[in-house]
Amino acid sequence: MSQPDLDAWRTQVRQWLATVLEPARETEATGDLAVFHNLPEDEERLLLERCRVYQRARFDAGYQALTLPGDKGGAGLTAAHVAAFAQEESAFEVPPSTELISVTVRLVGMSVSLFGTAEQRDEYARAFLRTDLLACQLFSEPGAGSDLAAVRTRARRDGEDWVIDGQKVWTSGAQFADFGLLLARTDPDVVKQAGITAFLVPMDAPGVEVRPIRQMSGGASFNEVFLSGVRVPDRLRIGRPGQGWEVATTTLAFERTASGSGNRRKGGTFPDVLALARSLDRTGDPLVRQQLADLYVRTALRAATVDRVARASAAGDKPGPEASLTKLMASDLLSRTGQVAAELLGARISADTGEPGTFAWTQHLLGAPGYRLAGGTDQIQRNLIGERVLKLPPEPRVDRVPFSQLPGN
Ligand SMILES: Cc1cc2nc3c(=O)[nH]c(=O)nc-3n(C[C@H](O)[C@H](O)[C@H](O)COP(=O)(O)OP(=O)(O)OC[C@H]3O[C@@H](n4cnc5c(N)ncnc54)[C@H](O)[C@@H]3O)c2cc1C
Repeated sequence: MSQPDLDAWRTQVRQWLATVLEPARETEATGDLAVFHNLPEDEERLLLERCRVYQRARFDAGYQALTLPGDKGGAGLTAAHVAAFAQEESAFEVPPSTELISVTVRLVGMSVSLFGTAEQRDEYARAFLRTDLLACQLFSEPGAGSDLAAVRTRARRDGEDWVIDGQKVWTSGAQFADFGLLLARTDPDVVKQAGITAFLVPMDAPGVEVRPIRQMSGGASFNEVFLSGVRVPDRLRIGRPGQGWEVATTTLAFERTASGSGNRRKGGTFPDVLALARSLDRTGDPLVRQQLADLYVRTALRAATVDRVARASAAGDKPGPEASLTKLMASDLLSRTGQVAAELLGARISADTGEPGTFAWTQHLLGAPGYRLAGGTDQIQRNLIGERVLKLPPEPRVDRVPFSQLPGN
């Protein structure tokens, strides 16, 4: 597909955005600085509806799934177009998105488009990209987080169905999702990565039980999901049997790209800290000035890295390991931002006194550690950068034997 000129395309995007959104207002220091959502269920449902109106308009205008190849239902554009879209969007009041919207559109929708059959693309991927259906990510398990290829949830073939038994954990938004993209072990007698298959599981299927997990921030945005004898028809298998690891790693690369470069507001940013320092009359303090300058430089570096990674990728490419760089920089910046705000506020950060901007920063501080874990921990991103970007010697691997021969199986 021929590439539209980036500047001309950017102008079209800006004009379209002006037809569906209001221009951005100045950020107020007292805004929502939560990294993850902590809303009561009815408010979360209302927010999801607001997000869906915008996502549908975006899909209908042809601005969703920008980097997917045309024959997979995408626009066949480059990551530079994604970055340009995000830049243009930041000049408007975009409805605050949620983890589930992001997982549905930017992870599951993309992966089902890439790995699904033409029928699955028509029936499911399109509905995910348009948020007509919402999908969560049923990957992590109690014994398979960083070592995701160790999943123990089993799927065994039974006629035209697969029967799934096991447990998932940390599933963001499962209580609101229509489907889950699930990884299950279908062949324990090959190395662990080779025996995994991906499925779309209807979250209302008999045998699926969702139990919310209460977080230290007070919310319960993620869940445990138990699967007991869940029957899933073979037509909901995504990719070939045994191709689940490729589906997983592609989905995770989309996740790192989304977390590292996305526009969705996650916690406080440099302008919020600056506003806080001004409101406390601390901008004359040389130590505070140094901390603010450090945050400013890191913010600029992160933006430049997002831009560089975007420019390096070709049209229709799956995201590469460089996405780990931007995810790592984003989580590091989030933690540092919280630390500077905490030092500025001192003891005031620990209580909801009603004073503007205090409890908002508590929400940031309580959410930032989770961001260092979600989508692959900081340490795992460093391993990926070391091995796949810098080509350093890999970690020792002691598990190149059939999964069933690993200790504990
Ligand atoms: C807010 C949030 C939302 C999430 N949402 C989802 C979701 O929707 N769906 C889903 O499937 N999962 C989700 N997760 C789970 C997330 O993917 C895992 O928490 C993450 O992959 C880490 O796995 P773990 O928690 O099992 O930690 P572990 O893998 O047990 O790691 C423990 C510690 O050991 C370190 N470590 C492990 N292996 C290595 C290694 N090889 N080298 C160096 N250090 C290592 C880790 O960095 C970490 O510090 C979410 C997590 C969070 C925090």
